[in-house]
Amino acid sequence: MNIIIFGPPGAGKGTQAALIKEAFNLEHLSTGNMFRNAIKNETPVGLKVKSIMDAGNLVSDEIVVEMVDEELKDPKYDKGCIFDGFPRTVAQSEAFDNLLADKGQNVKALIALEVPEEELVRRILSRGQGRTDDTEEGVKNRLKVYHNETAPVLAYYADQGLVKSINGVGTVDEIFDRIKQALG
Ligand code: ADP
Repeated sequence: MNIIIFGPPGAGKGTQAALIKEAFNLEHLSTGNMFRNAIKNETPVGLKVKSIMDAGNLVSDEIVVEMVDEELKDPKYDKGCIFDGFPRTVAQSEAFDNLLADKGQNVKALIALEVPEEELVRRILSRGQGRTDDTEEGVKNRLKVYHNETAPVLAYYADQGLVKSINGVGTVDEIFDRIKQALG
């Protein structure tokens, strides 16, 4: 079972992904975490994407898709996965669907976490994870990029009837209960 956890920066994708992973026995693939690891380890990809990420811009579709494609070769993903931060553009969504189809798999649902914008900014600036893109400028730009480039992913999967909208305001447990209900 492959699930996409979707939403603007600060919506709680990573937090809910960890719970879904446990409850449904899935893998968790976060492209943001993969890039942060690449930067920490100073890999060629890491060196290339650092300034892009710090500014809150998107890494190119080509780099992202190639990285996910490589990662999904690991047989541990055969049981299914929760995708967090990917796909983030319509081009990534199309490439992702093709990639899964080649493996005889598909996307079962896209969980869209809905959180008002003031709450997103408040959460990110107070979460104190020491992320170099969690600055006021970085957050503003990530929200702009979300609206322009990432929000269209919703329509793409809505056309396939896969979108489950979830109210992302409340306690972590409340939100997780809503997700479990939506997944049935
Ligand atoms: P958030 O959703 O809080 O912004 P993420 O960890 O998902 O955090 O992403 C952080 C940054 O990593 C993004 O702003 C972008 O620069 C890069 N990134 C992560 N996933 C992708 C992706 N699928 N496509 C392009 N860039 C990505």
